[in-house]
Amino acid sequence: MFDLIFKHGTVIDGTGAPRRDADVGIVGRYIEAIGDLSGEPARQIVDVAGLIVAPGFIDSHAHDDRMLLSSPDMTPKLSQGVTTVVVGNCGISLAPMPRTVPQPVTPPLDLLDRSGDWFRYSSFDRYLDALCRRPPAVNFAALVGHTTLRVAAMEDLGAAASDTEIAHMRTLAVQALKAGAIGISTGLAYTTAMSATIDEVVRVCEDLRAYDGIYCTHMRDESDGIMEALAETFEIGRRLDVPVVISHHKLSGARNFGRSHETLPYIERAMRMQPVCLDCYPYHAGSTVLEVWRTRRCDRVIVTWSTPHPELAGQDLDDIAAILGVGRDEATQRLMPGGAIYFSMDEQDVERILTFPCTMIGSDGLPHDNQPHPRLWGAFPRVLGHYARGRGLFSLEVAVHKMTGLSAAKFGFSGRGVIEPGACADITVFDARTVDAGFGYGEPIRPACGIAHVAVNGVLAWADGMTTGAHSGQQLRRCVT
Ligand SMILES: [Zn+2]
Repeated sequence: MFDLIFKHGTVIDGTGAPRRDADVGIVGRYIEAIGDLSGEPARQIVDVAGLIVAPGFIDSHAHDDRMLLSSPDMTPKLSQGVTTVVVGNCGISLAPMPRTVPQPVTPPLDLLDRSGDWFRYSSFDRYLDALCRRPPAVNFAALVGHTTLRVAAMEDLGAAASDTEIAHMRTLAVQALKAGAIGISTGLAYTTAMSATIDEVVRVCEDLRAYDGIYCTHMRDESDGIMEALAETFEIGRRLDVPVVISHHKLSGARNFGRSHETLPYIERAMRMQPVCLDCYPYHAGSTVLEVWRTRRCDRVIVTWSTPHPELAGQDLDDIAAILGVGRDEATQRLMPGGAIYFSMDEQDVERILTFPCTMIGSDGLPHDNQPHPRLWGAFPRVLGHYARGRGLFSLEVAVHKMTGLSAAKFGFSGRGVIEPGACADITVFDARTVDAGFGYGEPIRPACGIAHVAVNGVLAWADGMTTGAHSGQQLRRCVT
């Protein structure tokens, strides 16, 4: 007796293998059988004729640390077929925060919570406990952020950490890894972590190996100094003897357009010597905190939130400057603290990076922005619709692999990311003809097209294009074989 059967669908199994017509039968939390299940009894049968049955998507790069707690329905992610989020990226995690967080909250920590109220977990353990006691609709795996550790342990973020501060951060990191963090992330491009030396990073992360942790990094430079930043990342990976993940790989600034021709072969060479992978979001505009130096690097900037001027979220910085009758720099200053979308990349670099065989899909979505970058609700459908079906960058099978089997293998989520007997029943059913994020920067808050059903650990969490209210997410750990 099956609990749930997806009947008459076409299975794309997440390994990159060609699609095949098959029913998928689920018992409890697991996939029990794949094939012709006609006549088999089941508690629930969902007819998915004409639709693709794929493993649930893994958001390899998320900032949902707080959304998992404050909006456990996780609609922006569930609605695009995501069943697992990796949080704590770019050096910023909600925990541990053993002291009162500064006011106003130190950017970029304010991307997670501007009030400071949510930095309430003195240890990583307590954060994970809170999540497990009130599970969200999707699975989660958490990194501990180096910038969070710096804010927790240091007095002067403009300096390199002292021996005592490094020891303190290392202790907090070990506690987090013991509690279940899957690794450590850095955000060395941010003012709050820029002064960290490579030695500081290596010493804080010293215990990663012992806990089979992974090192994820928003690198020191994604612009003119990209090659040096990559070299630093590889060196950190070698010194720690752990896998590294290059977060949201991109080339920023017009004079770096086309340099994925340099970076990808370099990454490929490094991959032959040590474990390296990367993630990418499918847009040529990025989004993060609002800062003058960032606005100077691109022609177009859209404001996503502003504490002093919340009413201006969604508008172009140039228009705001004109309304205020001031220059761009002055307008930026008046809007801070805030966030923005930066049109800083070349579309051809984005396509080349997405096409690179070891690139995983991540959203990098910022769930608490008033007018967020559309990647928050649309990253995965856009890869399937715009890039696979529309642009023909790769087959649908490859697109699905980049958001399921590949990510599960790189992060060590065993039994996830594939449709096979015995695997966890994280499943996304979508319409290959219509799936897409047909919305842009003007109207970013709405579900994408074409995602029909989503099951998380065998429980339907999204059905017929609507949330069911089920919260069956689990904490995932890294399993290294
Ligand atoms: Zn980042």
